Amino acid sequence: MIADSDISPATVRGFYDFMCAEYRANVKPKRGDLAMEAAATFLATVQIQKSRDAFLDNYVTTMGRTVFVPYEVGVDGRWSCWQQIETLAHECEHIHQHDTTGALAHGFDYLMSKARRTHIEAEAYAVNLELHHWRYGTIEDWYPRVRAESMHGYGVSDADVAYMRRFLASRAPTISAGGFLSHAGRSAIAWLDRHAPELRSPSVRDRRLPWA
Ligand SMILES: [Zn+2]
Repeated sequence: MIADSDISPATVRGFYDFMCAEYRANVKPKRGDLAMEAAATFLATVQIQKSRDAFLDNYVTTMGRTVFVPYEVGVDGRWSCWQQIETLAHECEHIHQHDTTGALAHGFDYLMSKARRTHIEAEAYAVNLELHHWRYGTIEDWYPRVRAESMHGYGVSDADVAYMRRFLASRAPTISAGGFLSHAGRSAIAWLDRHAPELRSPSVRDRRLPWA
């Protein structure tokens, strides 16, 4: 299998171009953006984030249709090229949710209710499951648990984390059988099957979806 570090920058950039066109998204560097720098100071001051650097370097943040990223697209580093692909697909699912629910309702749910924020993230993590299965041919038992535990960084309760774990574990059999549960996962895989089939697990068949 091609290692993450051998994924070509052109593949990552091609994927970004496609997904940005498909979801009318923009991708910008997080550092240096005035709103992101101000948010970093605020979140560190109220101690939602450990430090300004944690917010600026460890998290991707989507506001409206703009995805702020802490990496240079196509440059393998702290965020591998594969992580960059998975991350943009996840964020595009948020844009799709936002378009489906309406921007105000989506923002309100995300900010005001921990349970709804957890559900919104659980739906978007189905994208990560779909891409993980496409690339590795399996969804290991630990995968839903590790994904759910990452929610601790979003200030939710243990019950919310347990909900996320159950939600993702319940989706794994459908995804393993070749089904799609997310919008952005299907778009991403349609493009990847066509343009980067060498990254797909040999055990996963090319479904030649008509979307990309
Ligand atoms: Zn998310």
